[in-house]
Amino acid sequence: MADLQKYGYIPSALDESGDYLPARVTAVYKERYEMICRFGQVFGKLKSGVYYPNVFMPQGIKTLSKETQGSEPFPTTGDFVLIRYIAGSDSQIVKTLPRKSLFLRLDPSSSGHYSQAVAANFDYVFILASLNQDFNVKRIERYLTLSWQSGAVPVVVLTKADLIEDYSNQVKALQKTCTGVMVCAVSALTGSGLNALGDYLKPGKTIVFLGSSGVGKSTLVNALAGQALMATREIREDDGRGRHTTTHRQLIMLDSGVMIIDTPGMRELGMWDVTDGLGEAFSDVEDYLGRCRFSDCTHVNEPGCTVKEALRSGALLESRWESYKKLKHEAVYSEDKSAYLSGKRQWSKEIARYSRQIKKRRDKS
Ligand code: GDP
Repeated sequence: MADLQKYGYIPSALDESGDYLPARVTAVYKERYEMICRFGQVFGKLKSGVYYPNVFMPQGIKTLSKETQGSEPFPTTGDFVLIRYIAGSDSQIVKTLPRKSLFLRLDPSSSGHYSQAVAANFDYVFILASLNQDFNVKRIERYLTLSWQSGAVPVVVLTKADLIEDYSNQVKALQKTCTGVMVCAVSALTGSGLNALGDYLKPGKTIVFLGSSGVGKSTLVNALAGQALMATREIREDDGRGRHTTTHRQLIMLDSGVMIIDTPGMRELGMWDVTDGLGEAFSDVEDYLGRCRFSDCTHVNEPGCTVKEALRSGALLESRWESYKKLKHEAVYSEDKSAYLSGKRQWSKEIARYSRQIKKRRDKS
């Protein structure tokens, strides 16, 4: 018998009424979902008539609102769902329970028009940046904004501390910009600094990792797990089998009771939300920019506009241009400090609430 509370589930009388059982999604495949419920690992499919495929609400990316309209939000890794348990066969998923946190990305199969959930119900976002190369405060700030928007608590983890003699300046610079956020320097190779993460590595808590490729995400997960759960760069390059060992799940339960979510969509998350990635994904569109008669052309109705001309001739598709404009808007939004600040206010409230709870418990005992 699996205890779903160990997976972070908070029991609710409403969820368990009737014929339904709560379950947590541990991996998403094309049409099937791997889940954990009271009976252990089960597979399930969505109940039609409750979940409508291909009905989307465009551009829900910055909100925690449903990304589908009229339908239950499609489950993603980490979601708690209600299932009609069917022994020996695929169970039926009938409801996606409310999420406490969520990462959305633009669905690549929709030309950037729709959003898609990539991870849900995580408690902490570990934002990884390597101390020895590519140390970029702006990028960390963007990841922080994303994290606050997700509804979870960010922690900045500076990796590869063993390669740098003195990293106090980097830590100080970050502590200044990231007030209220824990910043720590660790080495997954020597184990130095890992103790500082102890407050976050508690049983029943779920963590996601953000950071560019090569910063040491897999190495850190393996160090925390005490075993090689994920293939690190050397192994990935060696055996050519791609990113993961074959046994890899998307939501991993460590022996310590901590869970880690690592989905393919997570790795592309940053790409859609930072302006850097935008140009790369839309180089065909950006080719037309900066070539108009007026340098401040808004591409609406100015004469000599290269974009308008390309749209008229068909060289640039209207749908590509619309997607680009939407994404550009999103990217600007994601750099918007007000979102970051409102996230931080939320965090302060959370801390106050948490302190009150602890005090209450202490007073009782
Ligand atoms: P990922 O792409 O973010 O999953 O990065 P990996 O975990 O595969 O690590 C990329 C490279 O950095 C590998 O060569 C690792 O051995 C190396 N690496 C990761 N963590 C550390 C560390 O703490 N110290 C040192 N010296 N190297 C590390």
